[in-house]
Order: sequence, then C-alpha cells, then structure tokens
Amino acid sequence: MKREIYDDDHEAFRASVKEFVDRSVLPHVEEHIAAKALPREFWLEAGKQGLLGLCVPEEYGGSDAGDFRFNAVLQEELAKVGAAYPTCHGIHADITAPYIVELGTEEQKQRWLPGVASGEIVLGIGMTEPSGGSDLAALKTTAVRDGDSWVINGSKTFITNGYSGDLFVTAVRTDPEKGPKGITLFGIEATAEGFSRGRKLDKVGMEESDTAELFFENVRLTDAEIIGELNMGFIHMMQKLPQERLGCAVANIAHAKQILLETIDYAKERNAFGVPIGTFQHNKFLLADLVTRIEAAEAYIDKCVLNHSQKTLTAIDAAKAKWFSSQVQSEVLDHCVQLHGGYGFMNEYRVARAWRDARVTKIWAGSNEIMKELIGRDLGL
Ligand SMILES: Cc1cc2nc3c(=O)[nH]c(=O)nc-3n(C[C@H](O)[C@H](O)[C@H](O)COP(=O)(O)OP(=O)(O)OC[C@H]3O[C@@H](n4cnc5c(N)ncnc54)[C@H](O)[C@@H]3O)c2cc1C
Repeated sequence: MKREIYDDDHEAFRASVKEFVDRSVLPHVEEHIAAKALPREFWLEAGKQGLLGLCVPEEYGGSDAGDFRFNAVLQEELAKVGAAYPTCHGIHADITAPYIVELGTEEQKQRWLPGVASGEIVLGIGMTEPSGGSDLAALKTTAVRDGDSWVINGSKTFITNGYSGDLFVTAVRTDPEKGPKGITLFGIEATAEGFSRGRKLDKVGMEESDTAELFFENVRLTDAEIIGELNMGFIHMMQKLPQERLGCAVANIAHAKQILLETIDYAKERNAFGVPIGTFQHNKFLLADLVTRIEAAEAYIDKCVLNHSQKTLTAIDAAKAKWFSSQVQSEVLDHCVQLHGGYGFMNEYRVARAWRDARVTKIWAGSNEIMKELIGRDLGL
C-alpha cells in the first residue's frame, strides 16, 4: 500500500540517513555485536550528520525539526539494520533528550544539549528498578534534602545505554509520603561521585545495545540538577511516554517488514521438492497474510505519527500502537524463522537475530499488559 505521510523533504532526509547507515553502521555491525555496545564513533558520526539533534533547538547545536515524521524516518532506517539501533538512538534522541529540551533550565540546556547533539554526551533514562518497572509510582530510589543538596541512594536496572552513557535522566523519590506525587527527575552525570554501574547485562537478544544497572551511593546533587518541577516527575514521565511508545511502534514494524521482505526473497530462492518453497500454497498464503498484517499495522502507526506531528496523538492511541506493533512484529518474525527452516535458527542469519531481538518489545516501554490496562481503563473498565 502506498504510504502517504512522507513528502519529498522526508524522503530526502531518508536518503541521507541511508548514506549514514551504509557508510557508518552496516560495515561495523559484527563489531557492535561482539562488543555488546555501540562505540563512541557511532554517536560522533551520527552527531556530525545531524542525526542526534532533531528535537534540539538550533541555538544548542540541533536542527529542531519540529515534525516527528523525521524522527520516524530515522527510526525506520535504523530498524532495517537491526532492532538495537533505533533503541539506542531513540533512547538518546527521542526519549531522553526531550526531557531536557522541554523541561530543562537554560543552564541545563547550555550545559548538556550541545553534547547531546554532537554525540559527546550519550543519554539514558532511569525509571525501572530491580524491585519493579511496571509500577513506576512505587520506585524506591530516594533523594533526601541535606542543606542545599539532595543525597541520592538506590539503583536502576535494565538501563539502555547504561554502560556507555554519560547522563541519565533519573526518576527519584523526593517525598516518601506522596506516592506518584513524590517523584522528581534528576539529571545524573556518570562522573558524579557515588555513581557507578554494573556489567553489561547478558541479554537474549539486542546484542548491539548495552544495558546495565546503575547504582547511586550518596550521590550529592543540587536543585540545579532537577529536570522539570520538584515532585512532578511522574506527571512529566506520563506526558513523555506516548512519544517513547510511538517510536517503539515505528521501529517494531519497520524491523519486521524488512525481515519479511528478506524472507520473501528467500522463499523465492530456496527450493524443496524441485520448486521454490514460496510457491507451496501454505507458504504463499502465509506470506500474503503476513504482508497484509504488516501493512495494516503500518497504516495505523502512520496515522499515529501524523497525529503526533500535529500534536494530537493521545496516550491511549500510542499504547495501542505499542502493544499491537510488538505483537505483529513477534508473530511475523516467528513465521519468518519457520520459513527459513534450520537456517532460521542459526545466529548468523539475520532472521534468527531479528526474532530474538523482537522478544523484548512486548516487555519494555510499558509491557503489553500495562498497555492493555491503560486501554481498558479508557473503555471505562
Ligand atoms: C533490554 C531492556 C532494555 C530496557 N531499557 C530500559 C531503560 O532504558 N530505562 C528504563 O527505565 N527501563 C528499561 N527497561 C525496563 C522495562 O521498561 C521493564 O522491564 C518493564 O517496564 C517491565 O518492568 P519489570 O521488568 O520490572 O516487570 P514487572 O513490572 O515485574 O512485571 C512482570 C510481569 O507482570 C506483568 N504486570 C505487571 N503489572 C501488571 C498489571 N497491573 N496487570 C497485568 N500484568 C501486570 C507485566 O506485564 C510483566 O509481564 C528495559 C528492559 C529491557 C529488558
């Protein structure tokens, strides 16, 4: 189906992203997998190409695109390489940077945004804790007032870019009595005394992204590191999560679509019983089914992207896009593995990695159960 949300400017941008991918990403994928992380060169190259500052105002070194369709194009092109790329990039540029851009003080913007846009400061977001991620309002990391300082103790886990990042927007409890109304966001630099991180976590997939635990032991900060308003962190996160979920949805479908296209090629080339496997009616009908599912999901997400560009996306529609895209992605990729036969289970085949990588998309950014909880509540249930 012809897509209608992208115009010539978006397509020109897509071409420049593809150049970046061909030159600076594709030749290094195996190195990234082996290192279980993206090297600093990835970030610096992306920064040079203007791919890290789409939401950053020009005065701080960004391009202030002001149209989420550009972010979506970037997510799509990175997802075609592998699911970890839009994840690491998205956490930095589309998920964490907006907290500083939209809620930061002038001093914070001057201090951090030029490095965010250039790739010298890599961002992460610290919400989830070892004791739980779904129930964000129950987080336990504390900041206690001590004179002019806040003293932070606790830990975060599963943090994307956690091993290599420089600055973490971190949700911390500043009032133990007030539940969700007692949470504040702090910008915690990796150089802060008392900050440390664990090893790169050993994941089932998404090897190219580093994921780590963060520890805070008497980290001393001041009001100057508070992002947004005191005790308003939960509200700030609720306002920003729809963009995070939409970005995930865009990447989920672009990722599955790319592997499906590769699988269709495979089904035309691989023979069994003297004919291409794609010509067996079962497989032909299956591929017809999968292509339809991808296009239907893509159409819904395109509409969400357009709405978000026009500032009309609702949190509920973002939740629908997130759970549905990850479900479609998982189902499609599972069939793609099957169509590859034994090769589909071999790590050197992209389809195998894609299948492993996709599993987490039903868990993170708010699990699919939590998405359905939100949608159900909106139905008055
Ligand atoms: C690779 C990876 C990268 C990640 N990156 C980040 C990051 O950068 N920053 C960050 O803050 N977090 C990150 N996360 C954490 C992720 O967002 C959480 O894992 C997720 O929110 C679920 O939290 P949990 O793991 O504590 O599961 P739990 O909250 O313990 O949930 C366990 C199960 O119970 C279900 N459940 C919980 N509550 C309900 C309910 N009310 N109704 C029905 N079912 C329910 C959940 O859906 C899930 O199936 C990442 C996770 C992974 C795996």
